[in-house]
Formats: sequence, C-alpha cells, structure tokens
Amino acid sequence: MTRDELLELAMKVYDETEVLELALAIDFATKRHEGQKRMSGEKYILHPLTVAAILIEWGMDVDTVIAGVLHDTVEDTDVTLQEIESLFGRDISFLVDGVTKVSRARSGMRDLGSYLPETKDNLTKLLIAVGEDVRVIIIKLADRLHNMQTLQYMPPDKQRKIARETIEVFAPLADRLNMGRVRVQLEELSFKYLMPKVFNETKVLMHSRLKKSQRKLDKVRREVNARLNAEKLVFQMDGRVKSIYSLFKKLDRVGDIDKIYDLIALRIIVDDISTAYLVLSVLHDMYSPLFDRIKDYVAKPKMNGYQSLHTTVQTPTGQIVEFQIRTREMHEYAERGLAASFHYNENKLTDAYRKGEIAALPADLAWIRELQEAAARAGEGKEFDSAKFRMTLFADRIFVNSPKGDIYDLPKGAFPLDYAYRIHSDLAARASGFKINGVMRPFDYQLQHGDTIEVLTNKSARPKPDWREVVATPHAREKLRQQLAREGGMLAQITGGVSSLFQHRKK
Ligand code: MN
Repeated sequence: MTRDELLELAMKVYDETEVLELALAIDFATKRHEGQKRMSGEKYILHPLTVAAILIEWGMDVDTVIAGVLHDTVEDTDVTLQEIESLFGRDISFLVDGVTKVSRARSGMRDLGSYLPETKDNLTKLLIAVGEDVRVIIIKLADRLHNMQTLQYMPPDKQRKIARETIEVFAPLADRLNMGRVRVQLEELSFKYLMPKVFNETKVLMHSRLKKSQRKLDKVRREVNARLNAEKLVFQMDGRVKSIYSLFKKLDRVGDIDKIYDLIALRIIVDDISTAYLVLSVLHDMYSPLFDRIKDYVAKPKMNGYQSLHTTVQTPTGQIVEFQIRTREMHEYAERGLAASFHYNENKLTDAYRKGEIAALPADLAWIRELQEAAARAGEGKEFDSAKFRMTLFADRIFVNSPKGDIYDLPKGAFPLDYAYRIHSDLAARASGFKINGVMRPFDYQLQHGDTIEVLTNKSARPKPDWREVVATPHAREKLRQQLAREGGMLAQITGGVSSLFQHRKK
C-alpha cells in the first residue's frame, strides 16, 4: 500500500477536501515514522497505510481513516496528542488517543506475570474505549487484522501470544459488532497459528467433504433456481462455505462430519422481508424441513443484530441442505455489522429500520448501551465488573494449555479426559491421573480457563465404563464408547462372555 494507492482508493469515496486532509495525514505520519521498520523489514508507514485502506474497505468515515493513518504516531514516535489536535481537530485526536490508550494498557501489563490478568485488564480498557466511541475498536480491529496478516515475521512465541489474544478478545469483539467477515478472518488466522496441525487436518477434511457433496448440491441449486423463477421471485443465490475454525468447533461438539449439515449453506438474498418468507415457504413445499432446524432470526434477531431465516431441508434423495434467506440490508449488516452504519448514510439506515429490514439501529444495540453504562461507572471510579463482560464475550468456550504451551479450546464444563481425548485417544486410554497447573486433580475436576493440563499415563491403564460420567464433549464420548466396545469384546473372548453379564448386572 503506497501513498498514491491509498489516495486513489479514498477518491472513490470521499470528497476533495477530505482527500486533501488524508494526504496531509499521510505525509505527516510518513515523516514521523521515518527510519522505523517493521519485523518484515519493510518501512513502518506501510502498516498504518494498510490499516487505513482496510478502514476504507469497511466503509468507515474519513475521520476514522485519518485516525487509522495516525494510529501509531503517538505510541511509537515523538508526536503528541496536542500536535494532532491542532493539525487535524478534536475528533481525530480523540480517536488516536483512544487507540493509544488501548495499546498502552497492553504494554503496561505485558511483563506483570501470567497471561490471564493481562487479557482481562486489556479487555476492560478496550470496553471502556468502545463505550466512548466504537470507532476506536474498529480501528483496533483493522490494526489487528493487518498484524495477523503479517504474523509470519514474528518469533513463534509471539505469534502464539498474539494469535491467542486475537481469538480470545478481538474475534469475539468483531462478533459483538456483527462484523461477520472480520470475525472469520481473525479466527482463521489465529487458528492457523495456534494449532497449525489441526488447522491443516480440518482443512483437508473440509475439502475432501466438499468435493463429495458438490455435485448433489449443484442439483439442489438448479432445482431451487428453476422453482423460484417459476414463482416469479426476484432473488440471488450463492453458496457459503463454513470457515475452517467454525467447522473445527462444530466437530468438537458434534463429533462426526456426517452430522454437520451446514458445511455449505445455500444463501438466498431477496429485496424485502415478505419475499424472504415466501422463499421459505416455497422451499418447505419442495423439500421436507427438519423442524428443529428452522430459525427465524428475522422476527427474533441475535443479540448482535444478526437477521436471517435459516432452514435445513431434506431432498427426496436424502440430501440434507441448509438455506439462509435474508434481505440485502440484512446481508450487508451480517457481513459488515456496525461498520455498515458508517457506510450507509443515516437516512438509508433509518429507512431500513422503519421498514423492518434491519432489527435495530446500530446505536440501539442493547449491549452497546450496557457497555457505555459500564464505562461510565468505571469512569466514576466505581467498580467495573469485567468478569461479567468477559463471560458474555467469550460465550461458552474455555482455553486451556498443554505443558508445551499449545492452546486448546474446549466447551465450558469440559473435564481433563475431554482434553486428553482431544490430544489423542490412545493417550486418553492410558490416563491414570491429571496434573492441573502442577497439582494432582481428580477425573471429575472441571477445567478452568487458562489451566495447564498434564496427562499422567500408565502402560497398564485401560478406559473404564465409569469414565462416561467424566467426559463432556461428543468427540471424547464417541472415542470412549469405541474403546469400551473394543475392550468389552476382548474381555468377552478371554472370559467367554462374562463381561456382558457384568454389564447387564450393572444396569
Ligand atoms: Mn498498529
């Protein structure tokens, strides 16, 4: 990204005075970052310019883009906020100040011990920044996205640390802002660095599976196309493929790729809500819907404002396909989230809201109000319950470590055996005990976020039927079931079927 490329991008979106101000900011930042280099060896200015380009792509207002160009000047050069305010005005200096505060909160905590408090404090600061102006977070997301895209130049331990923070803090933040596309980008990159082997395995699994189902899916797509055309409906249809990370998470819950029906979903975009429901009814007329898989996020949007109709149907040939039906506005909002509100002019947005095409005006999102109130309370020196926000942001996942520092993501309520089965089922089968953070813990210990788990093994140990009580993930449950069946079979051979009597009596 060069000065000219960035200005060319900007000219398509902003008026002349705005582009001139942007040019001024570029020259100012270039001069002040002079001589600084990135880990890649490139000139430092490349980074803020790329961040600014990302912000233009997201459809942000010009102040945010200019703040993106300037975002590292106060932190990394001798530029002062006063200087920025006098050159670029209050609005931009306020944004740069917010971004700088977030960075300082991070580096201030960096060497103070374990990872967790750092993240928590960090997050608190981030949240307060959101409360003041959500554009600060959007700049931080663009900053983080570019840093993740260039992570290969960092040493491995830093790569893991940054990737982990991204998946724990920034991806959930993007999700809360309903910036679906950014969330997926951040998750995929983090996942790749945190668990390269699992990432590749999942990717291979995904591709082989997609190949298998592609032809059948094309047939469904043609059928639906013909039928919707016959009904004279105006629509656009495309396929959306699940991200590698979300497949990985789902596999962990479901255990078996054959039970995942939304590997590819067919997405139908229409002009208005009544057509969306019409399309739904046509699909249900063509195929039989699986009733527990119909989701009306139009009438009942998700907390981050996401809206869409989801249904999963079965074709006469037994093919199971998920459909997502939504209006163009809903689609735009699902991909760009809060950033879309800067892209749309206000009238268009209010109009869409009035017509019910979107669930809420972005500023109306309840959780933002909540954050703002919390930030205001924190500002008054009253207690700020970051733990509470942490819970809602990280949904129901915990992150645990192997003794080597690899990170595994498990559902809340998981046990040490779930972790062991995640690593390898042979390892789990020989488990004789667990050291959690260096202390021996029982099999029914509930794993906590940040735990380091060591699996103690014994060559003669065997999986036991009562382990069924202390596994929570479908993957572990399935592997255990297979192992017990195998053990049972072996035992039956040896003892002539006594084991089946034993199992019968136990019931
Ligand atoms: Mn930066």
